[in-house]
Amino acid sequence: MSEPGLLPGSVSPLLAIFTDFDGTLVEIAETPDSIDVPTDLAEQLDRILHEFDHAFALITGREIADIDRFLSPLQLPVAGAHGSQRRRADGTLEQLDEGLIAAAQAIVQAIEPLATAHPDLLIEPKEGAVALHFRQAPELERACHIAMEEALFDHPDFTLVPGKMVLEARPSAFDKGGALRAFMQEEPFAGRVPIFIGDDRTDEDAFRAAQELGGVGIKLGPGSTAARMRIADVSSVHALLRGLGEIATRERPLPETLPH
Ligand SMILES: [Mg+2]
Repeated sequence: MSEPGLLPGSVSPLLAIFTDFDGTLVEIAETPDSIDVPTDLAEQLDRILHEFDHAFALITGREIADIDRFLSPLQLPVAGAHGSQRRRADGTLEQLDEGLIAAAQAIVQAIEPLATAHPDLLIEPKEGAVALHFRQAPELERACHIAMEEALFDHPDFTLVPGKMVLEARPSAFDKGGALRAFMQEEPFAGRVPIFIGDDRTDEDAFRAAQELGGVGIKLGPGSTAARMRIADVSSVHALLRGLGEIATRERPLPETLPH
């Protein structure tokens, strides 16, 4: 018998690959819509999906529809809006509570006056979450904090999460770690060793979840982190994924001549 997570006769565990999107698979841009998506990105991610027998998912702050737009026609397993939306590997969707969707809309309305007064601020309404971007007006960070905290006063089931030049209000019940755990309970992820790669503070929950499940968190760039490993930049992430994919493919089909 082989060890759990190991192919018979192989030395490498079967991996489940999870990655963040912005700042990890693509470079961060001035606004969420102005990211430069390489023309072959969807093709590369589709290859990874097949190399890992569909045990590959994105875990992102963006909405699933947003990711689909960038990767069209590819539709990957995705946890969107920090896990409050989730498309499983079989294509089915986990739906969000209507009350949380309405609450997010109310938070958007509460912070709209600030964004109207300062056009350099960008509100990104999501289904069940709200992001307030101040990348083009960093001097307004404090004002953004105050507006968001006031907006959340009436919505204690939401948490304020700071990111890179962005503040996000999202349901407290969801985070990227919970999304990773939810995938890991399902086929084809279950029983595999999870790897999660991300670059931002909201990725910390997923680093911890991957490591608590016997896997590894990989933090892109500097900054304190719970992740056990670190990687330099977006191109290194792609190189790592290519390498892991090659290993996964090389060890399939099972080598019958090796002892089981
Ligand atoms: Mg990121």
